[in-house]
Amino acid sequence: MLDKVVIANRGEIALRILRACKELGIKTVAVHSTADRELKHVLLADETICIGKPASTDSYLNVPAIIAAAEVTGAVAIHPGYGFLSENADFAEVVEKSGFIFIGPRAETIRLMGDKVSAIEAMKKAGVPCVPGSDGPVDSDAKHNAAIAKRIGYPVIIKAAGGGGGRGMRVVRSEAELSAAIALTKSEAGQFFKNDMVYMEKYLENPRHIEIQVLADGQGNALYLGERDCSMQRRHQKVVEEAPAPGITEEMRKFIGERCVRACIEIGYRGAGTFEFLYENGEFYFIEMNTRIQVEHPVTELVTSVDLIKEQLRIAAGQPLSITQQDIRIRGHAIECRINAEDPATFMPSPGLIQRFHAPGGLGVRWDSHIYAGYKVPPYYDSMIGKLICYGENRDVAIARMRQALDELVVEGIKTNVSLQKEIMKDENFQHGGTNIHYLHKKLGL
Ligand code: ADP
Repeated sequence: MLDKVVIANRGEIALRILRACKELGIKTVAVHSTADRELKHVLLADETICIGKPASTDSYLNVPAIIAAAEVTGAVAIHPGYGFLSENADFAEVVEKSGFIFIGPRAETIRLMGDKVSAIEAMKKAGVPCVPGSDGPVDSDAKHNAAIAKRIGYPVIIKAAGGGGGRGMRVVRSEAELSAAIALTKSEAGQFFKNDMVYMEKYLENPRHIEIQVLADGQGNALYLGERDCSMQRRHQKVVEEAPAPGITEEMRKFIGERCVRACIEIGYRGAGTFEFLYENGEFYFIEMNTRIQVEHPVTELVTSVDLIKEQLRIAAGQPLSITQQDIRIRGHAIECRINAEDPATFMPSPGLIQRFHAPGGLGVRWDSHIYAGYKVPPYYDSMIGKLICYGENRDVAIARMRQALDELVVEGIKTNVSLQKEIMKDENFQHGGTNIHYLHKKLGL
C-alpha cells in the first residue's frame, strides 16, 4: 500500500480522501491555503502544510508549492480530488516526473480525453455511441460547414474542443446563423481555453444526463459500476444525482457499460473515471469523459458497496482490481442532494459563520461534509458545503428518507439551498423519475 499521500484539495472531498486513507493505514498530508486552517480534514491530517494565500491560483492550483509539500513530507503519492488540478495533464506529468504517484490516469490519457475532438475519435474507435457530428474540427469554410450541418440536421451545437464547465457552446437552428456562430465560438474558445478548435454536433432537444462509472487498474482489467442519472441541473451544474437511473434496464446497462469497459482497455485507462452520456429516446450519446473521481460518486458506492476512493488508492499502489464484473450487483437506490451555501432564490453564494449545525442520521443516511458549528465558510471557493446521500431498498424509500433527512439537517448563520432540495424531493415529476436536463430550469421559471 501507499505509505503517505498528499491530499491536494479541500472541503468535503479532502475529508473523504482522508477517511479512506486512514482506513487503509495510509498517512495523510493536508495542503491548504491560509483561509483553510480550520478545515475539518486539516485538523485530522497527520501533517499539514500551508501552500499559499486564499486565491486558488496561489494555493490549490500552485503546482510548485504542492510538489514541494510532497517532497518535504516524504509523501509517495498525490490525490487531486475533483476540480482544481484533477484533470490537468501537465500537473499529472510534473507529479510523476518529480517521482511521485499521481492518483489518476496517465498524463497522456488525461490529455487525450481533455480534448473533446480526440476523445470522441477514441470513443468511436472503441465502439462507444457518440452524438452525430462533424467527425473532427470545423474551420471557416462556410460551404463545407453548411453541408455538415445539413447532413447532421438542425438544430446543431458548436462546441469548443477544449471546453469545460458548460462554457464554449452555441446552439444553431438554421444555416443563416451558422457561420457567425462558428466564428464567435471559435474566438471565445481561443480566449477562454487557449484553444480555438471547435466542432459540430447534433443538438439533442430534451435529453437526460446519464453517466457510467468505471474502474480500471491499467493492467488490463476494467469494470463498470452501473450508471448515475444527473439530469437535475441548473446552468449545467448538477443539483441532484441518483443511481440507478430510472427506467434503465439491466440489458441497457450492460450494453453501454461493456462499451465503456472496452474503451478503457483500448486507451489504457487507469483509475476511476466517468463516461458522460446524453440519453434520448432510448439511445446513449457520449459527450465527454471525466478522468477523475466525481462529486456524485457516493450514490454508486451505496448501490454497489464498492469504496471508489479506496479502489483509487489501491490502483495507484499498483494493485490489480480487487473485484471483477461478476462481483458488481446494483442493489437498491441512492440519491444525493448537493447542499450549497447559497441563497435559494437568487443562487448567490452565501459564505460566513455557521452558528448552529446538526447533521441528519439514521438507517441509509450518509452525510459527506466538512462543516461544523463554528466553521466559517470562506468566500473564495465553490459554494458546496456538503452532500446528503440517502439509500433505500427502492427509489420511493430513498426519496422518503431524503425528505426526512433534509428536515433534520440544521445549518444556521448562512443561507443554503436546503429549501430548494426539499421542493425537488416533493416534486411529482421527480418522484415519477426520468425528468430531462431542462426540467429544473423550467420548474424554477427560468
Ligand atoms: P462541459 O465539459 O463544459 O461540461 P459537455 O460536453 O459535458 O461540456 O456538455 C455540457 C452540457 O451541455 C451537457 O450536459 C448538455 O446539457 C449540453 N450539451 C452538450 N452537448 C450537447 C448536445 N449535443 N445536445 C444537447 N445538449 C448538449
